[in-house]
Amino acid sequence: MKYYLLFGPPGAGKGTHATVLAQRYNLKHISTGALLRAEIAAGTPLGKQAEALIADGRLVPDEVVVAMIENAFDTIKDVDGFLLDGFPRTIPQAEALDSLLQRRGEKLTGVISLMIPDEEIYRRIQGRALVDGRADDADEEIISHRIQTYHTQTEPLILYYRNRGLYHEIKGYPGSIEDVRKRVIAVVDTI
Ligand code: ADP
Repeated sequence: MKYYLLFGPPGAGKGTHATVLAQRYNLKHISTGALLRAEIAAGTPLGKQAEALIADGRLVPDEVVVAMIENAFDTIKDVDGFLLDGFPRTIPQAEALDSLLQRRGEKLTGVISLMIPDEEIYRRIQGRALVDGRADDADEEIISHRIQTYHTQTEPLILYYRNRGLYHEIKGYPGSIEDVRKRVIAVVDTI
């Protein structure tokens, strides 16, 4: 099995390119954000716990998302691999993923990182708010907190994966979606 991570700040285009990559390489796309939003929509206890944190631009607890990923690995079989989007987002999550894979005799294939500047994050998320209606996209203060959370808690993963020779960075800006798609595929084809 192949295990790819799609990495990058909020609004970098992870979801957009995930769909294409999943099809091209026969991967199951797993977005922890989308899974959490489904829990919220279903009104589960987990959803209720996550809702307030997400509305505040904070992360949900590591053990919650790790359990979601483990469950996906246990239940999804008919694919050539996984494309994890929005996970891991902290060093403890990355360590949990490493041990999860190790226990299964598997390892990470590569990290595909989409980079965009902070100003562009605001522009894109505010644009997306009008289309997708996500509450955490509609408020400037929440966006700003998510960017802060990204820089403090998620960005250290760049060095973590760079040190392991797994990190591949792609410019998510400037350029059209099609331009970025070509860049992403050119990189993933070489991994
Ligand atoms: P974006 O890429 O715009 O940040 P996501 O859909 O990936 O959107 O995530 C939305 C929210 O869900 C995050 O702001 C965070 O609160 C929560 N979340 C998603 N993935 C994780 C994770 N791996 N760890 C903790 N919280 C997460």
